[in-house]
Amino acid sequence: MKVFAYSKALYSTWLYLEPMRLLLDAGEGINCFLEGRLLAFRDLAITHAHTDHFTGLQNILITRLREMEVTKEEIPPLNIYYPGNSRTLERYFQYLQDVMSRWNDLVVLHPLVPGDTLALQGARGLHLTALEAEHRVYKQTALSYRVEQLRYGLKPEIQGKPQSEINKIIAEKGKSAITEPIMRPLVFYSGDGRPRLDPISRGAALHIQEATFLDTNGNKKIDHATLAEAIALFRELEADNLLLFHLSSRYTMHEFWSTFNRIVTSDEERERISVVKPGSLLAREIPMPGF
Ligand SMILES: [Zn+2]
Ligand SMILES: [Zn+2]
Repeated sequence: MKVFAYSKALYSTWLYLEPMRLLLDAGEGINCFLEGRLLAFRDLAITHAHTDHFTGLQNILITRLREMEVTKEEIPPLNIYYPGNSRTLERYFQYLQDVMSRWNDLVVLHPLVPGDTLALQGARGLHLTALEAEHRVYKQTALSYRVEQLRYGLKPEIQGKPQSEINKIIAEKGKSAITEPIMRPLVFYSGDGRPRLDPISRGAALHIQEATFLDTNGNKKIDHATLAEAIALFRELEADNLLLFHLSSRYTMHEFWSTFNRIVTSDEERERISVVKPGSLLAREIPMPGF
């Protein structure tokens, strides 16, 4: 799966999972990097109302509006998922509605509460679940997200039966008698916040984890994860791959890698970890079953 991402703590964060047509957060500057790709977005999941995660939205919408006006062809509206109790985001959306034409053709809003699950539009069978994140945002909820794929697999009691017997069951009772829906976790996206394990995301193909700090300097009130905590959560989650983002630019990359190398000592694990370096675009192929 091709992933594009830019992330620098405090300044701007966005990650685009191209084959899923899913954008995670929408920090400033995204339009400069993705240009024509902005037209392909179908879903945008905003984690919280800190400005580094959403103020790129206006330029995304302006690019899409301009394209529709030039080509006279419609682009399907962008589905935006966000914490429903966020007054900050609601006011930002209201401002956009006031200054832009055709808001209702551009956007469909989906306010969420933790626990909500919706079908995504960008790829068949994809579902998004909102989870509560531990991150202070003016008393508004911050979210993490889990992306799952709905598939139909053989029921356990059918597995191992000879094909002739399976065909007989299908003929008598229909296909639904042999299959059952299975939700498979593909992506866990932490957003900002203290590390928190989502047990249902265990075994996900990709864990996207913030790792703002290298150390806490004894500060117990930090609102983010450290690199060591991020790696520990990845191991606990047993995900196939890890993408670290939201690094603070207070550290040099030299400091980052020397801490990283102390924590991650096996080559096998190192090969499964990618890092969004502050200030540069990541464009990388990350293994994802079906994408
Ligand atoms: Zn942030
Ligand atoms: Zn934040």
